[in-house]
Amino acid sequence: MSNFLKDNQSPLDYVTIKVDENSHISIKDPKKCLNKCENKPCTYYCPTRVFSWEEQSNKIKVDYSRCIECLACPFGCPLNNIDWNFPQGGYGVVYQPNGQ
Ligand code: SF4
Ligand code: SF4
Repeated sequence: MSNFLKDNQSPLDYVTIKVDENSHISIKDPKKCLNKCENKPCTYYCPTRVFSWEEQSNKIKVDYSRCIECLACPFGCPLNNIDWNFPQGGYGVVYQPNGQ
């Protein structure tokens, strides 16, 4: 994935994430990813690479601790196969002005 920020910076460089022990993202039906989703677009449209394909298990791995809540994935999955909810209880991303 090409990085849209300068100097190989990541969106993760600009935010703080309070990670819950429970994921706010899950794959509804992993078999759909394997059998019906040829290009697996979630592995490249997520700006912080939450999703990756694991060859050994033939499943999408979800590293929800990297999620900046941009809301691309619930709409970007062509098979509507991502269950996504806002983190609750004060968990999740904290945006701060000017990267402070
Ligand atoms: S885009 Fe959707 S269906 Fe395709 S691999 Fe990702 S989660 Fe699975
Ligand atoms: S909401 Fe955005 S950052 Fe979070 S997993 Fe989906 S695409 Fe990635």
